[in-house]
Amino acid sequence: METTTTLSRETEIYNDYVKEWKDKGGKVVGYSCVATPVELIEAAGLLPYRIKALGNSDTELADGEMSLFNCSFCRACLQLGLDGTYDFLDGLIETNGCDHLRAMFENWQHRKKLDCFYYLKVPHFYRDDSLAYFEENLGLLKGLLEEKSSVKVTDEALDEAIHGWETVREKWRELSALRELDTPKVTGSEALALEIKGSSMLSGDFVAMLSRFIAERKDAVGTKPAARLMVCGPATDEVEWFEEIERLGAVVVADVLCFGSRAFVTAPPASDGSPLHRLAEAYLSSIFCPRMYKEYERRRDLIRETARRARVDGAIYLYNKFCDLHGVDSVIVRRDLEEAGIPVLVLEKEYSAKADIGRVKTRVQAFMERIGGVA
Ligand code: SF4
Repeated sequence: METTTTLSRETEIYNDYVKEWKDKGGKVVGYSCVATPVELIEAAGLLPYRIKALGNSDTELADGEMSLFNCSFCRACLQLGLDGTYDFLDGLIETNGCDHLRAMFENWQHRKKLDCFYYLKVPHFYRDDSLAYFEENLGLLKGLLEEKSSVKVTDEALDEAIHGWETVREKWRELSALRELDTPKVTGSEALALEIKGSSMLSGDFVAMLSRFIAERKDAVGTKPAARLMVCGPATDEVEWFEEIERLGAVVVADVLCFGSRAFVTAPPASDGSPLHRLAEAYLSSIFCPRMYKEYERRRDLIRETARRARVDGAIYLYNKFCDLHGVDSVIVRRDLEEAGIPVLVLEKEYSAKADIGRVKTRVQAFMERIGGVA
């Protein structure tokens, strides 16, 4: 496939985009869970920044606060909070995504004494009473953001931000269509690299970046991959995993990952009610994460439908050691995908462990032989 010279992998937590924003006097609010409505942060004139570790493998400080039996991605992020890498943040939003994530934020807050810290309570059910509770919590978050930014979040400003992030999701679908072609014009590692960059941008700049990339790629000549793979699981910002898999000749034509395409499945807000109500409904109805109760069938259907649409030869369920949510989920997802005729490889790994990459590569090679791809 023709390559573009404009796409480079994000290497800096405090990147040039964020530096420029801060130099102009802007404030930055960190968050981690995709259930956090970035629209609210943007409407308050703040820059939303999704917490990432960008391959950091040093967890020495974090290991003093969290247990070694906690997810290594969360420990890698906490390390960057404690060692000062994230000192540019003006606030943090925690959710009860999973207990590991929560331990990360609570230790961060405890050690750094952040003056703008909000615990957004995201219900585990999608039903009327939990929707009202979530909306109430979003209202409290809105108040805090207004106070910290000295900007009133009007309905108009919130509607504008909702429209901005809806456009990001539309562009993501266009990008995904190029990735799902018989001869993909976009690889899985490129898509993940784009998302990582965009996860510290305002919606308008994210849309502009995606539009430029799509325009550059839409007339490119794609290559038929040795195998069409889908990757499922939690948040991973490790582009190198995708690169290693794709070096074997496969293309990750689709994913259902939390740092990945699952971040863009939020339903369009319903057309009536206040913007805050519509936002609450759009988010709570679109959390395709094993932390939700009684939602497995919807999550399974999303995964199966993605696999079908992208015509995958096989799926890899990739998760971090001690991630109990996805460890348990992987068992049932594997069963249901294999019943639907889609071979599955389940891989447990440590975050940013170079030794794991070689081990996993060997298993992916064997998997590709099993599904008929040449490795
Ligand atoms: S990878 Fe698993 S343990 Fe880590 S934050 Fe995600 S859901 Fe939680």
